[in-house]
Amino acid sequence: MTAITLTPPSTERAARRGCLALNASYEPLAVIPAARAVRLVLEKRAELVEADSARPIRSSGTEVPCPAVIRLARYVHVPRKLRRGVSNLLLFARDGYRCAYCGRHRSELRGREFLTRDHIVPQLWFKRHGGDANTWANVACACSTCNGRKGDLSLAEFTRATGLRLRITPTEPHFVHLEWAVRALTPLQRKYVTEFFGAAAADALG
Ligand SMILES: [Zn+2]
Repeated sequence: MTAITLTPPSTERAARRGCLALNASYEPLAVIPAARAVRLVLEKRAELVEADSARPIRSSGTEVPCPAVIRLARYVHVPRKLRRGVSNLLLFARDGYRCAYCGRHRSELRGREFLTRDHIVPQLWFKRHGGDANTWANVACACSTCNGRKGDLSLAEFTRATGLRLRITPTEPHFVHLEWAVRALTPLQRKYVTEFFGAAAADALG
């Protein structure tokens, strides 16, 4: 089975070199490094759907057009949980890189502050009662100061103590929103995402 994972954010340059990998069903799966896409095509594990000939890439001593979109030869079953699991990268993107309590954007944080993953119902509660603290409905992007003040307090206790409320409705984000937020797809790649996910996705992409 071909392993496709959502790649972490890379540098701007690497992101431009990314290739959109489609499942055999044409469902967009992930943006993968172009060099990996070339290998998949050469090994006949994927077919080249769109190439960017303006961006040749060196592979095994030869120059080949940079794959912009590939389609896997065999359908890969991607469990929803795996694909949409909570990671800080995706969480911060979902919440717009803004603290869900004080509302400050990452760019407004002071010297030693940074963005963190806050568990709305504290992890301590889950330790006592069981269950998974890391679901999309229970996490929010919070600045380190707010997260530190919240600690093991419940949301109600935190609001009483600080006057700060949870400003977002935490839900599982749509794959397309995440892709859009995390990295800019090229117009060509975007076409495949919007074609598969439909008009709502097209609207979301703006
Ligand atoms: Zn904050």
